[in-house]
Amino acid sequence: MAKDKILITGAAGFIGSNLAEYFVKKGYPVVGLDNLATGHLHNLNPILGTHNFEFINADIRDIEVCHKAVSGVTYVLHQAALGSVPRSINDPITTNEVNVGGFLNMLVACKEAGVKKMVYAASSSTYGDSKALPKVEEVIGKPLSPYAITKYVNELYADVFYKTYGLNTIGLRYFNVFGRRQDPNGAYAAVIPLFTKQLMNKQPPTLNGDGTFSRDFTYIDNVIQANELAMLSTNDESNNCVLNIAFGEQTTILGLVDLLKDLLSDSVKNIENLKTLYGPIRDGDVPHSLASIQKAKEVIGYDPQYSLKQGLRESIKWYQDNL
Ligand code: NAD
Repeated sequence: MAKDKILITGAAGFIGSNLAEYFVKKGYPVVGLDNLATGHLHNLNPILGTHNFEFINADIRDIEVCHKAVSGVTYVLHQAALGSVPRSINDPITTNEVNVGGFLNMLVACKEAGVKKMVYAASSSTYGDSKALPKVEEVIGKPLSPYAITKYVNELYADVFYKTYGLNTIGLRYFNVFGRRQDPNGAYAAVIPLFTKQLMNKQPPTLNGDGTFSRDFTYIDNVIQANELAMLSTNDESNNCVLNIAFGEQTTILGLVDLLKDLLSDSVKNIENLKTLYGPIRDGDVPHSLASIQKAKEVIGYDPQYSLKQGLRESIKWYQDNL
């Protein structure tokens, strides 16, 4: 039986390209949409030219682009956005135009085309200044950055589109995702690819603050599983819901550096002697993050298979082969 067509926005980015590769290889017809703002066409090398993959180089801020991209599509996995808290502090206007304006365009396009479900990338940043741990979906604080506002607004719009137009959506609140193809370069690189590259090159990593901040690091294959389960879920509780997608373990930044040093110790001589440097705390950073993944387990059957350590092993192999 022919499989349903999927549109993946942000398909040339870290998470989008991994989703696109996964679903193309499973035999789904996939359309990838990306304007290459932060993504790279080479992320799609494994599937470019495959008969069931089509790439559209265009911008979600253009509603006509969104209308065309959803044509004939059953499911949308919406990943396109400008990520990074510091980027949003430096340029809140563009972040808002893409993350809110572009998101609204996608909702309108999905509604008008009768898309069955839009699964979208929400964010743990929505927990903002709430000190409660572990984070449960219903208890959020005030946003600490323009980026966090945009991601929260996405959830509010999705809820209203379900209630007013019946558009079915699921928001996946990702917690610090990492893995193959995550960009280690540029001013807004995430901590795992940045530190991995620095340590591989025998450069001391610089921490923002004293390293006691903590995160719930989530390997990319757990995120792919969550997207597939969310997309295919048919139970009532999954309609119009928001779910934490994480591994469910808390690691400090100092703990992360120790783990990376340990895993790289065979290939980087005397890595234990590399000093760690300390810089100022960044504006907008949430001090601690740890997810309850109970709701995702119950609603879509989410069952993450990769711990931080297992995911780091896989990621390091990839960076060693590709950097
Ligand atoms: P990424 O930057 O690698 O991917 C985002 C993609 O969106 C890029 O390829 C970029 O070119 C594309 N894009 C940006 N603006 C666009 C526009 N106007 N039109 C079309 N495409 C556009 O980032 P990622 O880490 O893969 O993040 C994917 C999604 O997950 C984002 O929505 C992000 O906010 C969300 N998220 C990521 C994390 C994480 O830890 N990586 C955590 C929480 C939420």
